[in-house]
Amino acid sequence: MSADCIFCRIAKKEINADTVYEDDDVIAFKDLNPQAPVHLLIIPKKHIETLNDLDGRDLELAGRLILKTKEIAVDAGLGEDGYRLVINCNRNAGQEVFHIHLHLMGGRKFNWPPG
Ligand code: AMP
Ligand code: ZN
Repeated sequence: MSADCIFCRIAKKEINADTVYEDDDVIAFKDLNPQAPVHLLIIPKKHIETLNDLDGRDLELAGRLILKTKEIAVDAGLGEDGYRLVINCNRNAGQEVFHIHLHLMGGRKFNWPPG
């Protein structure tokens, strides 16, 4: 946990979020500034700053994050039409919050390549 990290504070319930799923290790909530009809953020409760900071000890957690994200997407009815997962890492990707998170976006068509 990091005291000044906004997503740690959401995990600790010090800041409100529109939570759609929670267990001991993972929490999923609506993005404050949605870029699609469905735009959720799926985070580990453990403070990991960027994708670069994942290591072998996080293998199970990383797998669980992706599997849970898939379940949330399918439960939201996005499975058939499809959806996009994004993890921004550092400056060039535009990462703004330095607590690793998956963006789950769906409900519209996305362009490729992304901007
Ligand atoms: P990134 O650029 O990948 O770091 O994305 C950070 C995301 O977090 C952005 O899409 C923001 O809209 C979102 N965000 C920032 N603060 C909050 C918050 N308090 N609750 C929900 N989403 C947030
Ligand atoms: Zn954090």
